[in-house]
Amino acid sequence: LEKHAALKKYLSPPNIINNLSPKMQLLEISLHRAIKQHNFQEFEVYYQPIVDIASGKIIAAESLLRWHSPELGMVTPGEFIPLAESTGLIVPMGKWVLKRVCEQIKIWRDAGINSLSITVNLSVIEFNQPDFIQKIIYFINANDLEPHYLELELTESMIMQDINSAIATMNKLQSLGVKIAIDDFGTGYSSLIYLKNLPINTLKIDRYFIHNVANDPQKSAITKALIQMADNLNLHVVAEGVETEAELAFLRQHHCSAIQGFLFSRPLPAAEFENFLLTNKCLSV
Ligand code: C2E
Ligand code: MG
Ligand code: MG
Ligand code: MG
Repeated sequence: LEKHAALKKYLSPPNIINNLSPKMQLLEISLHRAIKQHNFQEFEVYYQPIVDIASGKIIAAESLLRWHSPELGMVTPGEFIPLAESTGLIVPMGKWVLKRVCEQIKIWRDAGINSLSITVNLSVIEFNQPDFIQKIIYFINANDLEPHYLELELTESMIMQDINSAIATMNKLQSLGVKIAIDDFGTGYSSLIYLKNLPINTLKIDRYFIHNVANDPQKSAITKALIQMADNLNLHVVAEGVETEAELAFLRQHHCSAIQGFLFSRPLPAAEFENFLLTNKCLSV
């Protein structure tokens, strides 16, 4: 109890705790401590390969944050990201992820691993920070990166919240050379007409549509239309959550450019991902 009371001082604002279940209280206390006191030591960035269907080669990876909490065990981003957003902790957290990823891109490039872009998920709160672009420029310069090796993942809802300001930020990013992907595409409410006016490079089809796509007539119709539309707009298209050979076969048949999913690999710690690259692990074509 004493420990619990001592930890309460890390909560801001303190009254939030009264509205939370005991489990959420513990989660919030632990998250504050992991960030403010333990300076992200419990966090690790994992990398999930993105594979080109035609060549079978790994062309990119998505960075995915993992939290190994000593008191809670492994906590999923689905649990801690919403909490990080509601407490504002997402701002230092997002900055830490960007820093780690940019450092990792440099490490891999210095090791001779080239032509691999790494994607970073953004929260709307981070994206709307007035100094967001400055942070990106800072990490690119600090690691002497070629900006096109960094790709930022935004969702439709993040963009639609304030479309004019989002487009302005996206244009600045693209003028720096940073790439932009739309994540979880198909689940939001954006009009497809907007898509052609958006400065984006990649469309990531949400895994909802990919799951069982070959046998579900509605999902296959939608997925085919999304691939076709991406192609017409000259966008790179990645299918998320590919788990089976049947799903892959469907995507290959309909000329989807790339896949990401457990079929090829789960998200991996940096060292394991590097092994994948060094042993030239490929998708069979
Ligand atoms: P997302 O950006 O859509 O990331 C893809 C999610 O799908 C990841 O979950 C990944 O592990 C999972 N996944 C990949 N392949 C498969 C598959 O074949 N089957 C299934 N069932 N799932 C697959 P994860 O790592 O739990 O992340 C969940 C969400 O949390 C992400 O969804 C992203 O929105 C968010 N997130 C993760 N890392 C970060 C981060 O560093 N910053 C921010 N702001 N959000 C993050
Ligand atoms: Mg993502
Ligand atoms: Mg996402
Ligand atoms: Mg996604």
